[in-house]
Amino acid sequence: MTFPTTRLRRLRQTEQLRSLVRETRLTPEAFVYPLFVCPGEGVRKEVRSMPGVFNLSVDEAVKEAAETYSLGVPAVILFGLPEKKDEVATGAWADDGIVQQAARAIKREVPKLLIMGDVCLCEYMSHGHCGIVRAAGPQSLGAAVAAPPGVGTEYEIVNDATLELLARTSVSLARAGVDIIAPSDMMDGRVGAIRRALDAAGLINTPILSYAAKFASGFYGPFREAADSAPQFGDRRSYQMDGGNLREAMREIALDVEEGADMVMVKPAMPYLDVIAAARERFDLPLAAYQVSGEYAMIEAAARNGWIERERVIMESLTSIRRAGAGIILTYYAKEAARLV
Ligand SMILES: [Zn+2]
Repeated sequence: MTFPTTRLRRLRQTEQLRSLVRETRLTPEAFVYPLFVCPGEGVRKEVRSMPGVFNLSVDEAVKEAAETYSLGVPAVILFGLPEKKDEVATGAWADDGIVQQAARAIKREVPKLLIMGDVCLCEYMSHGHCGIVRAAGPQSLGAAVAAPPGVGTEYEIVNDATLELLARTSVSLARAGVDIIAPSDMMDGRVGAIRRALDAAGLINTPILSYAAKFASGFYGPFREAADSAPQFGDRRSYQMDGGNLREAMREIALDVEEGADMVMVKPAMPYLDVIAAARERFDLPLAAYQVSGEYAMIEAAARNGWIERERVIMESLTSIRRAGAGIILTYYAKEAARLV
């Protein structure tokens, strides 16, 4: 049946009709709100390149978590800005690490809010890379500590020794009350290493949400200011994925599933909607996508200039991620979008 019998505009006449036939809907239950926790008390420091996003001390993070939960958003994901950085990311896995402190405090005050813990080392390493860095020598943690790398030297991000620190971090976070472990480092074999470590520690019921297909992206720029995690030399292309590779993204996800991931993520979201769609088609696990800092910053900057309708673009961007197939969306708009839906 074609025109004039068929007229698709019939169902677009009113908001009631449009709403009745809408295929993709946003709900607050799909959102995860990222929090950046820093030392101190009463600290609420706005991130310059991400207006509306703050570095929060533990007490402020608890307030933010309570508000998030009251809006129907079921989860936060925690990132940490430690007091000190070093060559073995002590702040990531220490019992009194900043995220561990925040997790305990949030669990105490908002026990029903799910806490995801981002597991990576870059925020805690003096060089800002996601793994142990070495200039030369054997692949061991001891050797890396003995010979820290300098700027301008040939270096390598050591895969296998890094796994030990990621596993240690995961166990420490889970013990502090983190409900879901979310490794974002992109080392090979990390999901398996983390699963084994959690199981050995008796944390058999702690799920893993792996940043399975994480691309080396220019859209992470503002996050590096928010989390103070910019690499001091080089870049992350030797471990994060190349932006042109869809088939490799499927291999990354398949490997993480085999290693025991309970949920998988694609990051960034909007420039990689095809990857989200392909992953949804191919895998049956819960699928998440991260609307990253650059996606947020672009919307905010354009809105501030009066070039776009801010709220409309926020909801359209989130709908596109949902429509592509992500059931879970990590977004700096979680609270605001929960109010708008
Ligand atoms: Zn990292």
